[in-house]
Amino acid sequence: MTDKIPLAGVIGSPIAHSKSPQIHRHWLKTYGLAGDYIPMDVSSADLADVLRTLPKAGFVGVNITIPHKESILEIADLVTDRATLIGAANTLIFRKDGKIHADNTDGYGFVENLKAGAPNWIPQSGPATVLGAGGAARAVVASLLDAGVPEIFLTNRTRVRAEKLADDFGNRVTVVDWVQAGNVIEDAALVVNTTSLGMIGKQEMRVPLDGLRRQTVVTDLVYAPLRTNLLATAEEVGCVTVDGLGMLLHQAVPAFERWFGTRPQVDSATRAAALR
Ligand code: NAP
Repeated sequence: MTDKIPLAGVIGSPIAHSKSPQIHRHWLKTYGLAGDYIPMDVSSADLADVLRTLPKAGFVGVNITIPHKESILEIADLVTDRATLIGAANTLIFRKDGKIHADNTDGYGFVENLKAGAPNWIPQSGPATVLGAGGAARAVVASLLDAGVPEIFLTNRTRVRAEKLADDFGNRVTVVDWVQAGNVIEDAALVVNTTSLGMIGKQEMRVPLDGLRRQTVVTDLVYAPLRTNLLATAEEVGCVTVDGLGMLLHQAVPAFERWFGTRPQVDSATRAAALR
């Protein structure tokens, strides 16, 4: 009898756009590991059944993406505190005892990408302005607070969503009206776009950016295009900018390590693999 080849994958709907298979397969090949990583289009109605079946076929875990990142918390047997606070999970481990363990590594990926792209950024150096209050914003806010950012100005088109997030994360998060977003950019050491604005096929961001200063670090979660108008404007001002692709790469690191037993490096070859 031989051990099954470990399998992992990503479950969402639709799933064809996902770059995760390229990233994980690149690492499997680079480190000479047995295994594979498979994209799976699964409906909400079938999700629980599929997840209970996958370990029997040799799956050691999966990534979860849109639209299942929130609802997965109801299906998982064990949910980390971090995923509970964020209200979403992106990584599942299928444990040997049959239990499904859910975690969220988006915030980890966000901060690691920021540290790599802006090594001189010091979390304690000043407030961060976060644009958007969706699922990704919750992971970003959690990780910035963990990293020691003293204050977060949170602004979202739908104010009530920002207020809910601030209620969940405590008094270091201050909600600012969307029409005032430009004003809190001026006061920030770090500006983060977590909205989908600027993404290919979506509207452009119209937040006034004249408050940007040279010493402000600017990062965008949008990675298609890689150089969004926000990042291009920030570059013109002389800011250090960090694109969103690295977050996608770094969030994959802890999952790959748990599933396949080797901690992978994020480097230029990983970026190239994701962009292929
Ligand atoms: P989400 O939960 O649907 O949230 C979308 C956010 O964008 C909300 O804040 C929403 O505001 C805002 N928004 C959408 N259209 C807008 C408009 N016309 N004007 C103003 N605000 C608008 O999505 P998500 O999961 O947080 O993802 C957000 C973005 O981050 C996406 O582009 C996604 O691809 C990217 N992302 C990247 C990574 C990475 O690894 N780089 C990881 C996760 C997500 P309302 O609340 O007012 O609707």
